[in-house]
Amino acid sequence: MTGRFAPSPSGRMHLGNLFSFLLAWCAVRAENGEMVLRMEDLDPQRTSAEFAALIRRDLLAFGLTWDREVPCQSNRTAAYDAAFAQLEALGLIYPCYCSRSQVHAASAPHLGQSEFVYAGTCRNLTPEQRTAQTRLPAWRLRVPDEEWTVHDGLQGDYTELLSRDCGDFVLRRADGVYAYQLAVVVDDADNGITQVVRGRDLLASTPRQTYLFSLLGKPAPEYCHVPLLLAPDGRRLSKRDGDLDLAALLERFTPEQIIGSLAHAAGLIDRNEPISAQELATVFDWRKVKKEDIYLTL
Ligand code: GLU
Repeated sequence: MTGRFAPSPSGRMHLGNLFSFLLAWCAVRAENGEMVLRMEDLDPQRTSAEFAALIRRDLLAFGLTWDREVPCQSNRTAAYDAAFAQLEALGLIYPCYCSRSQVHAASAPHLGQSEFVYAGTCRNLTPEQRTAQTRLPAWRLRVPDEEWTVHDGLQGDYTELLSRDCGDFVLRRADGVYAYQLAVVVDDADNGITQVVRGRDLLASTPRQTYLFSLLGKPAPEYCHVPLLLAPDGRRLSKRDGDLDLAALLERFTPEQIIGSLAHAAGLIDRNEPISAQELATVFDWRKVKKEDIYLTL
């Protein structure tokens, strides 16, 4: 069994990231599996080596170790090119000249971000219409009018009608940057990942990913989408909550106290008391982990 940490080095880790990583790590260690670290630095404008170094340091401060670090996404263009060519050979990719196509393509679309179903404007342009365009195109995958179900280990079945709920999605932006959806699938396949544990906000991306796995002829991993952490007023905790960034928290609490609070909030331990990641792995049990989002007060 192989799991992964797949942080985007676009900022320091926050409590929500730590929560997902803690569960991912415990699930792997509980089964004597292997943990992989992959820096998702697809978008050169938003990510940096400095943030990647901080994330590695923060993971280790919480005892969240990894067995191998795989090449980061900025070094994987050749692999994405090959997958793109494979899909192109299936006749499933078309150029899209619409202007909004670039907006969210390269970053993981999180719950609440404005995701829209593409109307298919450029789907059936004639060769003449294409050559008449002046803008550089983004590249979209044609999706069928088909229901697609993901069996999530924690959230249960999640089904989308690809044409209606998802629409033709971007695989490559007009500036050449590959989209998160393609990169993550090629990486999870090449890195031998068998279990993906991540925040519930990415459940809606999963049909697209398992669909890509099937087109590329690779087995999809098992998915477990864990609850999001919410502030007491219902907002999602995020990097914007300065008081919840790890540097500030580590001034007030030990790593074991923070892990204890997270493990208690997740439903893994009965009392909110300090515990190390290693000890937590020995009592880890998916059946105890809550499905619903969690209001957290530390
Ligand atoms: N790198 C993505 C993020 O930080 C996570 C992608 C994934 O787990 O599939 O949002």
